[in-house]
Amino acid sequence: MKYGRVFNFSAGPAMMPEPVLEEIRDEMMNYRGSGMCVMEMSHRSKVYQQIIDDAEKDLRDLMGIPDNYKVLFIQGGATLQFSMIPMNLMKNGKAVYIETGAWSKKAIAEAKKVGEVIVGASSKDKNYTYIPDCSNLDIPEDTDYVYICENETIHGVTWNKLPNTKGHVLVSDQSSMFLSRPCNVSDYGLIYAGVQKNVGPAGMVVVIIREDLIRDDLENLPIYLQYKTHADNGSMYNTPNCWAIYCCGKVFKYLKSIGGLKEMEKINKEKAKIFYDFLDQSKMFKGTVVPQDRSLMNIPFVTGSAELDAEVVAATKAAGYDNLKGHKSVGGLRASIYNAMPKEGVVALVDFLKKFEAEHK
Ligand SMILES: *Cc1c(COP(=O)(O)O)cnc(C)c1O
Repeated sequence: MKYGRVFNFSAGPAMMPEPVLEEIRDEMMNYRGSGMCVMEMSHRSKVYQQIIDDAEKDLRDLMGIPDNYKVLFIQGGATLQFSMIPMNLMKNGKAVYIETGAWSKKAIAEAKKVGEVIVGASSKDKNYTYIPDCSNLDIPEDTDYVYICENETIHGVTWNKLPNTKGHVLVSDQSSMFLSRPCNVSDYGLIYAGVQKNVGPAGMVVVIIREDLIRDDLENLPIYLQYKTHADNGSMYNTPNCWAIYCCGKVFKYLKSIGGLKEMEKINKEKAKIFYDFLDQSKMFKGTVVPQDRSLMNIPFVTGSAELDAEVVAATKAAGYDNLKGHKSVGGLRASIYNAMPKEGVVALVDFLKKFEAEHK
């Protein structure tokens, strides 16, 4: 790796594409003749307006976002959306949530503060190691939306087939799989993603929302918590996270340049297969998720011994493979291999783990 960088398997904030970091470095002191860094720029300036407009346009191109959807850049991370979604979308005060891991659980807890939450299905019985069958959910007619976390970052499960919402609005937390594969935006009413997993710097969320879901009868809701505020003001009701929007815009352009989301998915499948094939033949390391629901992005695995897990974390870190410790709530190990993790990083880590296993028989 250049610059003495390590292969960083962090779940987020996580690696960014090296060509993007180099471009940011080159523009740091003087952005394209403006005489200033993007960090120093008024968000009301022409030059910054171009940056945010380009970012939105490139994201629309990448995902094929239809014209009747708004793209919003909002602060507060993905976590604020746990509250904003029920506050804005619960017209009848009722929603169905699917519980598949730590992040959907958190979303459920927040939604319960706003209205009635029906847990339509849960994989809690097997410690969130699979996606429950959601082809025939019991959904009351007056349900405002059905909510999923499309990739559970901590438990490493992913939806490969969306739930049958029976005509109700689908809301999805795509934080840890955003732009990792093609996405048919029209299948959803609202998609959101905290960007620090798969796109850019922390502190911002991208919300893609169908226009008819943006309400104008929520005067009593704090103005910053209304989607309408952000939609009416081009994500600039107040000073946005200018820097994150700039960096994300570069990643959107970069993804377009390498062939878009189809190509990205191909690469991600290749990378994940290398890791899962290794786990499936290993006698020491075991994946925790059922094969058909395994994430392409977050791969939890275990040795079965907490001491050995800790030894693996220390040995990999010393060898230049950082952040392999599993989330504190589940333990074990986890390799996050987002879009920006090069294939060489996965190959090198697998080689290292093979050697480690051979030496610890
Ligand atoms: C990280 C993460 C969040 C929370 O993101 P913040 O930006 O820290 O609020 C929510 N959902 C998922 C799936 C995540 O991976």
